[in-house]
Amino acid sequence: MIITTTVPEMQSVIQQAKVRGQSIGFTPTMGALHDGHLSLVRRMKEECDLSICSIFVNPTQFNQTADLDSYPRTVEADTDLLRGVGCDVLFVPSVAEMYPHGSDYELDVNLDGLDTRMEGAHRPGHFAGVVQVVHRLIEITSCDRIYMGQKDFQQFTIIRQMLRDLKLTTRLVVCDIVRGEDGLALSSRNRRLLPEHRRDANVIHRVLSLAKEWIQDRDVKHIEETALSYLSIPGFRPEYFDLINGHNLLSITSKDDAELIVACTAVWAGDVRLIDNMVLKGTL
Ligand code: AMP
Repeated sequence: MIITTTVPEMQSVIQQAKVRGQSIGFTPTMGALHDGHLSLVRRMKEECDLSICSIFVNPTQFNQTADLDSYPRTVEADTDLLRGVGCDVLFVPSVAEMYPHGSDYELDVNLDGLDTRMEGAHRPGHFAGVVQVVHRLIEITSCDRIYMGQKDFQQFTIIRQMLRDLKLTTRLVVCDIVRGEDGLALSSRNRRLLPEHRRDANVIHRVLSLAKEWIQDRDVKHIEETALSYLSIPGFRPEYFDLINGHNLLSITSKDDAELIVACTAVWAGDVRLIDNMVLKGTL
């Protein structure tokens, strides 16, 4: 596996691959890798000639310094994991390499309001940072396909809109959520959970699964309210539990409002914020 920290080196590897007519796959991550990330890399390897993974804890998408500071950093272990799945290139840039002219700029992209609700409402500036970093990484890698997880439902929806709005040719591939045996969606943040919170955190998946049953015969508002109360167990504080139209992220009031209905939630377990979602009706 080639490991590079600079843009010119990264671009020279890509240039050589393009000359050979190879397709470029790219998976952006913030590291502290787990099997969810690796599932993206495995799929990228199956579908692309050159597989690139990046590890960059992007400061511009963190709205709380404490969250940025406490974000786990395990680059050595990550490198071994990526080698293990046969990733071709690992890109680990510095902040200066990513933003040589500073990061104090915002891209002119019409996000169609997708960034205003759910995560956008609770984490001001988060999606502007996500759009900024993913755009910069696509600019560097000029990848044919970018791999993202359904785990971050609003994030991939916004990136899809960015690709459309800027008429970029990169194709977005969305991969399924990988969960632990108890149903908890794998996340780099899970390793910060207190043991008792880790034990109880499967409540999130259980409530999402219940919502999938309830959608058959209960009101949307009733489902959202019941879910919020079921998630309010000791140590846990739900921030939102919203049933949305999976295409435009707008709230729904009835199950007949959309062909694709997704339940999205964010829950604090102690001081760790977890997000998850489940398709309740339709397919992605
Ligand atoms: P992150 O390092 O958290 O920024 O995540 C990098 C990519 O991995 C994003 O596209 C995530 O949606 C995806 N990802 C994170 N957790 C999972 C998971 N449990 N299953 C599938 N994809 C995931």
